Amino acid sequence: MSDNTSPHPASAPGVGRRKVLGAAALGGLGAALGSGGAAHAAPSPAPARVRTIEQRERAVVIGTGFGGGVTALRLARAGVRTLVLERGLRWPTGPNATTFPRIANVDRRSTWLSDRSGLPGIPGTWEPYTGLIETLKGQGMTINCGAAVGGGSLMYHGMTLQPTAEYFAQSIPMMAGDYAELNRWAYPTVAQMLKITTIPDDILATDPYKSSRLFMDVAPQAGLETFKVPLPIDWSFVRGELAGRYEPTYITSDLAFGVNNGGKHSIDVTYLAAAQATGRVRVETLHVVRDISMDLLRRWVVHVDRIDTDGVLQERKRIVADAVFLNAGSPGTTRLMVKAKGKNLIPNLPDAIGTQWGNNGDRIYQWVQMNGEPGFPQGGPACVGGRDPDSSIPLTIIHAGSPLLPPGIKAMVVVGFGINQPAGTWTYDAAKDDAQLTWPASGDAELQALIRARMDEFVRVGGGQMIDTNARENSTWHALGGVPMGGAVDRFGRVLGHRGLYVLDGARIPGSTGACNPSMTIAALAEHSMATIVRQDIGRVF
Ligand SMILES: Cc1cc2nc3c(=O)[nH]c(=O)nc-3n(C[C@H](O)[C@H](O)[C@H](O)COP(=O)(O)OP(=O)(O)OC[C@H]3O[C@@H](n4cnc5c(N)ncnc54)[C@H](O)[C@@H]3O)c2cc1C
Repeated sequence: MSDNTSPHPASAPGVGRRKVLGAAALGGLGAALGSGGAAHAAPSPAPARVRTIEQRERAVVIGTGFGGGVTALRLARAGVRTLVLERGLRWPTGPNATTFPRIANVDRRSTWLSDRSGLPGIPGTWEPYTGLIETLKGQGMTINCGAAVGGGSLMYHGMTLQPTAEYFAQSIPMMAGDYAELNRWAYPTVAQMLKITTIPDDILATDPYKSSRLFMDVAPQAGLETFKVPLPIDWSFVRGELAGRYEPTYITSDLAFGVNNGGKHSIDVTYLAAAQATGRVRVETLHVVRDISMDLLRRWVVHVDRIDTDGVLQERKRIVADAVFLNAGSPGTTRLMVKAKGKNLIPNLPDAIGTQWGNNGDRIYQWVQMNGEPGFPQGGPACVGGRDPDSSIPLTIIHAGSPLLPPGIKAMVVVGFGINQPAGTWTYDAAKDDAQLTWPASGDAELQALIRARMDEFVRVGGGQMIDTNARENSTWHALGGVPMGGAVDRFGRVLGHRGLYVLDGARIPGSTGACNPSMTIAALAEHSMATIVRQDIGRVF
């Protein structure tokens, strides 16, 4: 299918001074600040007549992020021919590539089928495009998530943190008994596949990483135990930028839409590439799964719209499969399952579908006008952090560089996350034929009070001010839950009462991942589940 080898470099006005501080928070994680009010433009009308293709498959994987990448590889290695469906595009990178939009000149490549970015401080409107980040507005919470081959691994910072046994059990009590096994081989397998390392000291000592060093200086005095964040980065690419061989991307934290130079071991170039190398996996891009149903013979039917890069419907597919693995991410998988339940496309789905959703406790602060000198440009990805060992609710605080700053302004991004109550629910909205999220502030209020107190400590020790960017519009880039283990799926992601239907992505994790970013736990749980599914279900269920 179509690759994005020649992405549209559609222009947008440059970022003006008054927008800069807002956009500065894009630094790290910033793509996630979601307060720009993305108005989803209606996709262009479909051609008058589109054909529907019927297809028969043994195994279908929906989505190519952490859950999807692991699933595809383990099915392929077990000898199962697998079709992988992905709504987004492939985004090939390499030294000095111009694949992704730059933060100072964002264009339609940034955004999934909307006429503007959902991120704060990003000016301009454009023709909707099958771009990188989808912004979904719920009640009380805006979600930002990846829409590309590789899922969130393209625009994520790559913070690859494993929770302790104790914190893991607090977030995912149902799997507490499996932690020893996860720790013994599943987490290490993910670490090996993604080739994770921490920032070398000599790179941390360079000018662009001054803000990271300032964080490391202040954090212990603010009561945190500091650490270097494991990242899936080939640091020789950062060295290449420091030496002037490549256009700056890492060393300016221009990462919010992806790393142009490459050197990032994202899912498309690790798990998925390995799966495709077996010859048993086909990846179809620009394939949007609209619904999943069960037919009269109790087989799974995946209803797909194949679109072009403007979002225009080209063709419909009705794919009948023995096994379907939902890996469309927490919002994507939850929407498909809530729709299936709301329309009774699959009879007797568990009542827990649409429940136990959470934001991983995310909160993004801008620390401005501190006493120390953070410097500019500020290097990334987010390579240093701190933990509060005595917090009554587990939490982690990390630093991310700002890609843009107005002259004379000192600022850096400081982000907190931790264990919340998975209080979010999704309900079916028949008028929109979609699921809608409701997130009550009580879900993470206690945690946020603790994170705020820790931020106040930074100010007490290091001066300046902490601006809570979520106060304007609450947003997350760590959506988790909606099809939770226990109520909706078993420990191995099997939908309860429905043979051959699986959920192996962040949708099955109830709201948080033990005061760590989620990707490593999503992937480790997928490895753990697939080992059992390969052993027990292949040849029996599909
Ligand atoms: C800006 C940003 C920064 C982040 N930084 C970090 C970080 O540093 N560390 C970390 O651990 N996590 C980070 N995250 C979160 C991390 O990316 C997600 O937790 C992770 O990607 C979720 O994995 P997943 O397999 O559940 O789903 P995803 O990776 O989201 O993959 C889901 C895939 O399914 C596709 N899809 C969705 N719906 C459909 C459909 N209907 N039909 C076909 N395909 C569909 C999507 O396009 C996507 O490719 C970040 C996220 C963002 C957005």
